[in-house]
Amino acid sequence: MSPPRLHFLVLTYPLQGHIAPALRLARRLLAASPDALVTFSTTEVAHRRMFPAKPDDDGAKDSDEDDGRLEFLPFSDGTEAGWSTHPGSFNAYMASFHAAGARSFGQLVDALVARGRPVSRVVYTLMLPWAADVARERGIASALYWIQPVAVFAIYHHYFHGHAGVVAAHRHDPSFVVELPGLAPQTVADLPSFLTDSTDPSDFFHSIFTTIRDLIETLDKESPKSTVLVNTCQELEVGALAAVGAQAHDVLPIGPVLPSGDDDDASIFEQDDDAKYMEWLDAKPANSVVYVSFGSLTTMAREHLDELLRGLEESGRPYICVVRKDNKAALADDAEAKVDEDELENGIVVEWCDQVRVLSHAAVGCFVTHCGWNSVLESVVAGVPMVCVPRMSDQRTNAQLVVREWRVGVRAQVDDGGVLRAPEVRRCIDEVMANLEAAAEVRRMAAEWKQVVTKAMGKGGSSDRNLMAFADGA
Ligand code: UDP
Ligand code: UDP
Repeated sequence: MSPPRLHFLVLTYPLQGHIAPALRLARRLLAASPDALVTFSTTEVAHRRMFPAKPDDDGAKDSDEDDGRLEFLPFSDGTEAGWSTHPGSFNAYMASFHAAGARSFGQLVDALVARGRPVSRVVYTLMLPWAADVARERGIASALYWIQPVAVFAIYHHYFHGHAGVVAAHRHDPSFVVELPGLAPQTVADLPSFLTDSTDPSDFFHSIFTTIRDLIETLDKESPKSTVLVNTCQELEVGALAAVGAQAHDVLPIGPVLPSGDDDDASIFEQDDDAKYMEWLDAKPANSVVYVSFGSLTTMAREHLDELLRGLEESGRPYICVVRKDNKAALADDAEAKVDEDELENGIVVEWCDQVRVLSHAAVGCFVTHCGWNSVLESVVAGVPMVCVPRMSDQRTNAQLVVREWRVGVRAQVDDGGVLRAPEVRRCIDEVMANLEAAAEVRRMAAEWKQVVTKAMGKGGSSDRNLMAFADGA
């Protein structure tokens, strides 16, 4: 009899920045282990957005991909249409998400057993620590898939192991320097925002803070050792890997994961007509275009957007700027607000694009980014230097890696009101694109890191070896 097939159940929170790296990992597992099965699961709401219903749709997506080895089955977060439709606060939503999600996910695991597809390993992303409990109750091993840098994981790890007091005492003092074991000293202003802005129960994102605390506690409960897969590579984060310490967890850098081959990348956003912006890019000289996106969550107020577009225009370079449909809708409440695309002389505005394709286009020479971890990795892989405009969550730590550790970008300064002004946009773009020695050095470093990361991801590279070991059931 042939041995039972390995079956990975990959579970993710319903945000674009979580779904994309989770599905990319799922596909990497299938490629690494030709016999393995993968079930990919996010909430029903996000699932419906990934697979807009066709008339005969029964809800589940029966995939023909990979000979039926990849299946998409959603779980319920207990709401009709996601957190915006929850009657309570975001924190109330997260509490009911935990209860409903754990119940529904447990039922999904049991249903898979009943169908003769028992799960060998649950792989869950960072907002879902209860998934490890659901797995443990059923005797199934689990692994956390950390979709931010090891540096951020190390900060959280140390914070919840004896360093909360010093941060709490200084959390309103942005320039206070925090020293955590093995990590470069950093100011309070550059710590993950949830450790400084969300620690009181009345804070808007308090439940994110408590979820991360639960996650660290959950990992400590695993025995003998918890496995933490990280979407990064060893070469990018030598210092932070040492700072977590192999004695605490089995931390396996397996990234950066990218969309594979011809498979569409996962998206819960509708795309703009892609022929249009790709054709527009095709007509531009190499390394001449500025690409601008602040990810899938951040929205810009009118003043911010006006300043940004003015700075881009004044830079005199061609640019492609993402302003999501929901951002436009938010602006529409403002009587004067309208992105008047006809008035733009040098650039175009799109509502959503295939960012990995755009970044890898030869015409793109600079990425103005909010430093979400996926965006940072996608830029490093493409060898595109960055202008960093971090705001919250892990973004400020990520920007430090880009600017200080790898030296592949510059950090933009905002004014006292938090607005990135047009002259600063122009200055920063020049600092990576102009014909200046410093800018040439940033571009040289970006090209060098691209080689390093490409090697880590390639056959026999450090991330590839870690992934193969995990995919083999190690
Ligand atoms: N993205 C995209 N098209 C866009 C804007 C963003 O495909 O027009 C993708 C981007 O490639 C990345 C993800 O959305 O994979 C954003 O994740 P990130 O971690 O950078 O930021 P978040 O959205 O979580 O703040
Ligand atoms: N958030 C949101 N809607 C949700 C849950 C979270 O907009 O239903 C956002 C919140 O604004 C914050 C982010 O999620 O920016 C925190 O998520 P995470 O810690 O995973 O960081 P990310 O890498 O996605 O920025």
